Amino acid sequence: MAEKITALEKEVVAAGKAGGVAYGGSAAEVEDKDVGMCIICYERLANTVILPCKHLCICAVCSESTGESLKGCPVCRHAPIEQRMTLFLC
Ligand SMILES: [Zn+2]
Ligand SMILES: [Zn+2]
Repeated sequence: MAEKITALEKEVVAAGKAGGVAYGGSAAEVEDKDVGMCIICYERLANTVILPCKHLCICAVCSESTGESLKGCPVCRHAPIEQRMTLFLC
């Protein structure tokens, strides 16, 4: 009896590990990489808000480098961009 329970527990633990880690791990990884990153360079955190649509989607470096060539918001294509506001996280 005791042996049976042990074997069953091992199976459940193994199944839980295989399923949980594979699924949860990859999903969290994708989110961590994309959320909050600049959608132009994907290298830095987005810290510049585009107004009036308020999309926080680009970094200050890309905001400067794109300059006037960025006619609309890269996320929702709202144009024209009225203002870009760089945030300072603290
Ligand atoms: Zn950038
Ligand atoms: Zn937008």
